[in-house]
Amino acid sequence: MNIAIPSDNKQMQEIIEKVRNGERLTLEDGVFLYKSDDLLTIGQLANEVNLRKNGKKVYFIENMSLYFTNVCEAHCAFCNFRRDEGAPGSYTLSGQEMIEYVEQHFHPGVREFHIVGGHNPHVPFQYYVDSLKALNERFPEVTLKAYTAAEIDFFSRISGLSYKEVLEELMKVGLKSLTGGGAEILSDHYRKKMRVDKADVSQYLEVHRTAHNLGLRTHTTMLYGSIESHEDRVRHMMQIRELQDETNGFQVFIPLSMQPINPKAGIRRRNSAFEDLKTIAISRLMLDNIQHIKAYFINIGTQLTQVALTMGASDAHGTIVKEKISHAAGALTPEGITREDLLWLIRGAGRIPVERDTFYNEIKVYE
Ligand code: SF4
Repeated sequence: MNIAIPSDNKQMQEIIEKVRNGERLTLEDGVFLYKSDDLLTIGQLANEVNLRKNGKKVYFIENMSLYFTNVCEAHCAFCNFRRDEGAPGSYTLSGQEMIEYVEQHFHPGVREFHIVGGHNPHVPFQYYVDSLKALNERFPEVTLKAYTAAEIDFFSRISGLSYKEVLEELMKVGLKSLTGGGAEILSDHYRKKMRVDKADVSQYLEVHRTAHNLGLRTHTTMLYGSIESHEDRVRHMMQIRELQDETNGFQVFIPLSMQPINPKAGIRRRNSAFEDLKTIAISRLMLDNIQHIKAYFINIGTQLTQVALTMGASDAHGTIVKEKISHAAGALTPEGITREDLLWLIRGAGRIPVERDTFYNEIKVYE
């Protein structure tokens, strides 16, 4: 049932009509929504779309975030996770060291390892293969969602293999899905200014295209809240939407709210709650061909995540255990969350928690 949305703005009314008729929104529509201060209308409309797609179900997963190395050859302006080789705090774990770390923090029920890290040029591609292999052999029941498209591009450069060959090597040792990081803002101008000296726009998209063609289902992100314009954000979403039309391989879109620690990145303060909620809602409205929008509590906090579940988000991420990248950049949120807290959070928004696996198969519905 549609909720009455009392907007007297003509352009807003046209957008409401389009969404209700299943018509695709344009760049102009997306930018208009960003410029509007009518958060309630935008949020309600996104909620309608989400209820149509997912009902009242909100998905989460028991997972652990793992980081093999923080040594990185790139110098993205917003990153406070990376270290130079040998610098204080730098590390590169062997497969065995990672297994020891996991054994310390593991609990039954963890069904996914979310693995990302620096682009460490001091170890060969084989290191990244062996690391996955070791984890897969020790924890065969846990799904490996590993590496960003930018890391796959980096592996391709250091190994001389094509994206397809890199992915096939990793799939042989257990890779089942790619993480969504490395997208930042899909704009050449942005990447130049923010010194995103890793996979460019077309390479990011090409890695995902290749992965989808190999049968992998992947995640994708947008890191917003620094120098980019509203138009940059909407164009970012449209590029993801276009690739999704072609491959249907993205499972979820994750807006990542920029954390403010690094003044070099032109980020003076956190995104406002208003901006975070609008971005979730606008993502839901623009990305008509992606099933889920994730509210990432690590970056926006648990309380705003709860509200986001009523404005278009249908995924509350997972338990994580110990997040490092956003916390290195100044996140004030917990590094992980318990299953009980996730259930509380989702139920508190009047939604039905659903524990899922990496591929959104339902494990348990908490009616
Ligand atoms: S964001 Fe990733 S690629 Fe960029 S500097 Fe940090 S670890 Fe390296």
